[in-house]
Amino acid sequence: MKWIEKPLQPLKGEIIVCACGNKYLKTRDQQKMCVRCMMKERDSLR
Ligand SMILES: [Zn+2]
Repeated sequence: MKWIEKPLQPLKGEIIVCACGNKYLKTRDQQKMCVRCMMKERDSLR
């Protein structure tokens, strides 16, 4: 396993506050909610 050292690399994307109050980094254009809410929605869709 390769581990590339890139400490404190500035991430691309903007930090957005989710409806639940949780801050998240928008990494995808379609992303509208934080990871927690995404998982919640996934669970509810099942
Ligand atoms: Zn959320």
